[in-house]
Amino acid sequence: MPVAAYPPIGGPQDVFFPRASTASLPEIVAGDGVYLVDDGGRRLIDVCSGPFLAGLGQGNERVLAAMLEQGRRLTYTYSRSTRHAANSELTRRIAALAGPGFERVLLTSGGSEAVEMAVKFLRARAVARGEPERERVITLMPGYHGATLYDLGLNGDHTAAGLWGPMTVPSEKIPAPLTFRAPSPASAAAESLAALEATVDRLGPERVLALVMEPIGGQASGVNVPDPSFARAARSLCDRFGIGLVFDEVVSAMRTGHFLAAQHDPEALPDIAVLAKGLAAGYAPLGAALVPAGYVDELADTTGFVVSHSYDASPIACAAGSAVLDEVVERDLLARARLVGARIRAGLDEMAAAMPLVGDVRGRGLLSAVELVSDEDTLAPFPPGVDPGAVVLPHGLDHGLLLYSRRQNAGRYGDWLLVAPPLVIDDKTADELVERFAATLTAATDDLRRACA
Ligand code: PMP
Repeated sequence: MPVAAYPPIGGPQDVFFPRASTASLPEIVAGDGVYLVDDGGRRLIDVCSGPFLAGLGQGNERVLAAMLEQGRRLTYTYSRSTRHAANSELTRRIAALAGPGFERVLLTSGGSEAVEMAVKFLRARAVARGEPERERVITLMPGYHGATLYDLGLNGDHTAAGLWGPMTVPSEKIPAPLTFRAPSPASAAAESLAALEATVDRLGPERVLALVMEPIGGQASGVNVPDPSFARAARSLCDRFGIGLVFDEVVSAMRTGHFLAAQHDPEALPDIAVLAKGLAAGYAPLGAALVPAGYVDELADTTGFVVSHSYDASPIACAAGSAVLDEVVERDLLARARLVGARIRAGLDEMAAAMPLVGDVRGRGLLSAVELVSDEDTLAPFPPGVDPGAVVLPHGLDHGLLLYSRRQNAGRYGDWLLVAPPLVIDDKTADELVERFAATLTAATDDLRRACA
């Protein structure tokens, strides 16, 4: 919408964003499966399911029907003063899929709240256990955990420090085990582990409450897939010192071939896993913190954990979540993520070999990223003043793709296009996505080179 067309009152969410970046936002008028339709009638493949979210695509009749039926029967009742079946049904489904160690499920309205709840829960537990000195939290740089004031302090993002820093409780940052540009994934993991050990040592292990990390990265690291040695060593260090290990699976859950990315390595399960985004797949705002029954029941016998928001476990959101999980199970979408993910990955790898400005393709299942570089020989990232995503996105629209790009710390850690379409994408559309992706990058290459000149 051109700036002049902003209405005098109201307007879309982007009236709050910098105007220079909103002039070319497409106006979406409808959705159809994995496609979004703009006001010019263009059918755009939703390459990243919004921000890794719309896993079932648009207009799933089963989910919509479940929400309507729930709303007719019971629209809302407050989870702090009443109980209802939709809450218990959803938590039973989630815990069954997550497996042992994740028996209790605290529901929220989204990922930021759920991350904060996980940390607050661990703090309440520590205090109840007579360990009030546990208050420091360690996170990875780069990394993302949410947009509340507390979560902003957890995020691994130098560029936000000037604006938000004075208002936050900054976590202790250690380098994420980034694989691209490292001598090897294992050496990156070893470096991160050394930093973790040094940080725990410096703070004093008795003061450390939690390590919060994405087991497989999302937008902040361009889907970094760490060497498994890092999570294993982190798990054993947390065990040794009684530190809570929290996996932020807001992005990774359901996309990597298992319900939780953590399930790839049963030796390195976290204490708490946090979900959101794909859990209700865009049909309702919903997040969750998955906590061991032992932790919850022990605390409930003393102080309990009584922090709530009005929309927690709201019946319609619970009904949406249960219907989404029914679809995931009955259509075998976790296996489908593995299969169609491998198909897309093979196509992207082939494309990358012929595309000079693609430095890396990485990911797992239906969660992947294509990293762009400014120089094919040095693999240097783009300069701070050039946002390659902004250059590529209009070419994507011309080729029928709605792309999601991110740069981290003004490009310091890199620039990527995220590829995580709905889990329901069929093989033919997956092939089309890859073809259109290659055509988009071919069309954008001259512009990218010019931008760096
Ligand atoms: N954690 C991660 C890894 C995320 O990617 C996000 C959202 N981008 C969040 C937490 C916050 O979730 P929400 O936007 O639902 O608050």
